[in-house]
Amino acid sequence: MFYRNRVLRGERACPQDMQFTVAEKDYVGFATLPNQVHRKSVKKGFDFTLMVAGESGLGKSTLVNSLFLTDLHKDRKLLNAEERISQTVGITKHTVDIEEKGVKLKLTIVDTPGFGDAVNNTDCWRPITDYIEQQFEQYFRDESGLNRKNIQDNRVHCCLYFIPPFGHGLRPVDVEFMKALQDKVNVVPLISKADCLTPNEIRRLKDRVREEIDKFGIKVYQFPDCDSDEDEEAKQKDRELKESTPFAVIGSNMVVEARGQKVRGRFYPWGIVEVENQAHCDFVKLRTMLIRSHMHDLKDITSDCHYENYRAQCIHTMTSKMTTDKRVESPLPILPLSTPDVETEKLIKKKDEEPMQLLLIRLQK
Ligand code: GDP
Repeated sequence: MFYRNRVLRGERACPQDMQFTVAEKDYVGFATLPNQVHRKSVKKGFDFTLMVAGESGLGKSTLVNSLFLTDLHKDRKLLNAEERISQTVGITKHTVDIEEKGVKLKLTIVDTPGFGDAVNNTDCWRPITDYIEQQFEQYFRDESGLNRKNIQDNRVHCCLYFIPPFGHGLRPVDVEFMKALQDKVNVVPLISKADCLTPNEIRRLKDRVREEIDKFGIKVYQFPDCDSDEDEEAKQKDRELKESTPFAVIGSNMVVEARGQKVRGRFYPWGIVEVENQAHCDFVKLRTMLIRSHMHDLKDITSDCHYENYRAQCIHTMTSKMTTDKRVESPLPILPLSTPDVETEKLIKKKDEEPMQLLLIRLQK
């Protein structure tokens, strides 16, 4: 570095300098790029949007609270049976900012109360697919707008779909729901309330669900293959993760005492079920996958596959409309345009001035 700086300043390098720089002469400095990216990302913070879907009472809220150790559903109003008959599927959103070792995560949980609760569940997934598409549409608009640097990404990165533990595999509503969502979001099926089943029953139900997922051609989230240069331990963990799907999970909002330790669990007259005990359920595997190992991949697939498909479709509709109508028309419903406010005016002015400022800076150099 010393040698490079001196040469850049136009000085002659003396022989000692030359000796000093032999080892470093090939060092340009781009090896620090990962650190720069790391610093920048940490400063900016991360965001993640998780959707939970499944009939009410399957333990969705409890599981989310157990995963992120926050009570996201304090103000939830539970409906009685009569109210639920007329209830339509709604979408509720909760956002929390969590921080761990200086890394900030803006977590959004999208809940789908009312899904599968009605007497007639025909098309009950429609509000959910509509919501996912609306987020794509908003992102598409923002990308084509003025303020591209500060886009708020509300796209749904993963959908945890809760399968009840009581049946003999997937129900028609499960098949229809996952098929309706498979090309729009990463679907991760879960067997809920796994403490209701014995280990043998869990194994049988998992096999059955896996078979039916294949039989009906449902595309659930596929874990990426482990890199070939990973060590044997990482490969083994990766195999175990894949073999455990669909994860059988247990949630609890309570801390109980087991084996002299305080643990998150469920207390029964016959014993304690520990949420984080891998012999009891796959909660730890799910949490590891979702937060520690695959969060980035879930975001990448959302952006590179699901959103890209939506975007390609939009552009295709736009171009085919152009050729048939012989005029430019947006396939997106045009938002009512308000008169630009002061902030927008300022932004437009700033954007207009940017190229001129750049030119001036270059000329001054
Ligand atoms: P949601 O309507 O799907 O959000 O379900 P909730 O999280 O409100 O849970 C409904 C009921 O199931 C509550 O009484 C919970 O205590 C209970 N519950 C939640 N998770 C589990 C679980 O893993 N096992 C068992 N046995 N009960 C659970």
